[in-house]
Formats: sequence, structure tokens, C-alpha cells
Amino acid sequence: MLEYRHNLLTDQWVIIAAKRDDRPQSFTAPDNSTEIKIDPACPFCLGNEHLTATPVYLFEKDSQWLVRVIPNKFPFLNRTRQNYQQTDNTSYLAEPADGIHEVLIESNKHSDHLAIIDYSHALEIIKALQSRCRDMLTTMGIGHVCIFKNHGRDAGASLVHPHFQIAAASLISPVITARLLHCQQFIKDKGISTYQAVIQEEINADKRIITQDKDFIIFCPYASQYPYEVCILPMTEIADFSLLTKELTEKLTANIQTILKKLYRGLNNPPYNIIIDTVPNCHNPAITQGFRFMVRICPRITPVGGYETATSTYVNTTSPEAATDFFQSI
Ligand SMILES: [Zn+2]
Repeated sequence: MLEYRHNLLTDQWVIIAAKRDDRPQSFTAPDNSTEIKIDPACPFCLGNEHLTATPVYLFEKDSQWLVRVIPNKFPFLNRTRQNYQQTDNTSYLAEPADGIHEVLIESNKHSDHLAIIDYSHALEIIKALQSRCRDMLTTMGIGHVCIFKNHGRDAGASLVHPHFQIAAASLISPVITARLLHCQQFIKDKGISTYQAVIQEEINADKRIITQDKDFIIFCPYASQYPYEVCILPMTEIADFSLLTKELTEKLTANIQTILKKLYRGLNNPPYNIIIDTVPNCHNPAITQGFRFMVRICPRITPVGGYETATSTYVNTTSPEAATDFFQSI
């Protein structure tokens, strides 16, 4: 069946174009035969610390660093506002790309994978992300912090060594602002936030929930942009990922690892993006009313083509209902 579906959280439309048999046929285990601990040419590997800048965050275990955060050597945001000069003297609009761009190196081992490392190690990665996010959100002029991970070349990774990126921008993206305004309008019209509405719809429908408890709901969104996309939402109104309690941080880490393990085993270690969406620093509580942080895990097993580029409407060939069956079966 071909169907347009609206994503209530992002206010975007997708086309669900499920094939007749859209369950993955290959359940073969990932091939780990090429795994290596140290790549002498990799700047993120143990022993090559001199190739990167001084860390701004470090977690050590057994006298070795395990998690490191460094300034990105090739940033797409930096603090150059004072020296900024527009390159073209035209009527085109331009702004300095003002912000902070850091890399979180998840492990000192080249082929580690967030899906299968020790839980205690994964927890230190999430805690490091929270710490850097907290620092950035209180830094002068920062409006929005985007935390993301590109795993695999098809998901945009340029280096194999596992890492997250943290991009703090002075400008709140118009897409984020539009999402906030959409939520405010929904609250005015319906009396509840888009987040609460989505949770209620998913509980009522009961066909896209992978797991749920009093703290988190984990589901394949009704209007998933990508095949096997997963969303993790808090059950209560928690806006700031960086201020989660210890207990919720631990549960969130376990939930992320559970989903990544299923992808690793069930889809043979596919490329994916993880996006952690946290509240912008817009100094206006009225605009962020109802906002909840969320984690999106988006496998990138189909390419983004011309139609998506032309229309910003994504075509998803795996229905979220089939994707939910898949996650529940492994
Ligand atoms: Zn490496």
C-alpha cells in the first residue's frame, strides 16, 4: 500500500511504500573477522593522541583513557564572529557559522561498537555527551546543541573509529524553530503537546511499540522517515537530555544499546545515525512548552534519492509496523 503519513513531532510528511515482503531476509551474523584494536594511521586510536588537540573531557580506566572529547579538527562551526567578513558583497544573506564543534571518541579501540561494548563503558559515553552538552548550553551565545553519530560510510562517517559529534550553534535552525512553533500551536488547539499526543496514539494503536515502561516508550514512528527508524521518548515532560537523573541516564543507555544490538544482529551491522534532540537555549519558556528530548536511531540502508532531495518528502519502503515486528522478533 502507498500512503502519505504525517509526522506529528516534526510536522513533515513521508510516503510509506512498503514492499510485499519487507522483512529483512538476511539474519546472518556480522562478519567481525576484520576487526582491529589499533590502526596506526588512525588519529583516534590509542597511542596517536599527539595527532589530535588537547581533550576537553577525559574518562580514564585502568590508567588508560576510555572516552575522550576533543575539538573537531575540521569544524563546520567555530567562534569566529568577531573576525567575520561576508565573502560576497551582494544582497544574498549570510552569517558567521558561529559555534563549537567537538568529537567524542567512544573508545581507545578502533573497531569497538556501541552495540556490543560493556554497558558500563556505554554509560560513560552517554555521561560524557551530557557533560559536554551542559557546558555548551551555558556558553555565551549558544542557541542549540545537536548531538549525533554517523556509523558507517553510508551514514556519513568519514572515520571508522567510533565517535559522536557535538555541534553547538549560535543559530537555532529554522527547522527546530518550526517544530517548536508547531508544538505550541498544537497545545493551543488540542490542549496537549505533540509529544504527549504521539505517546497516547502509540499506546492506543499498540502496533509500533517495541517496549515501554513508566520512564520511556520506544517505538517505530508512524511516519518513519527511514526503514527501521526507532524513537526513544521519555514518558514525562523532560526537555533537557543533559540534566537527566542518574537513574534515567542508566535506563536510556540500556535502551539505546538494546536497539543497537538488535540492528547489529538482525540487519548485519547496518550504517545508521543516532540523533539526540535536546531543548534549545531560546530563553523563552513559552516557546519550549511541552518539549521533550528524544533519541532517534535511523538505519541508512536505502539511499536518499532525487525525490527526497526535490520535495523533502522521504519514501520509506519498510512500514513501521513491519519494522516493529522485526525488533520484537530478535
Ligand atoms: Zn582508530
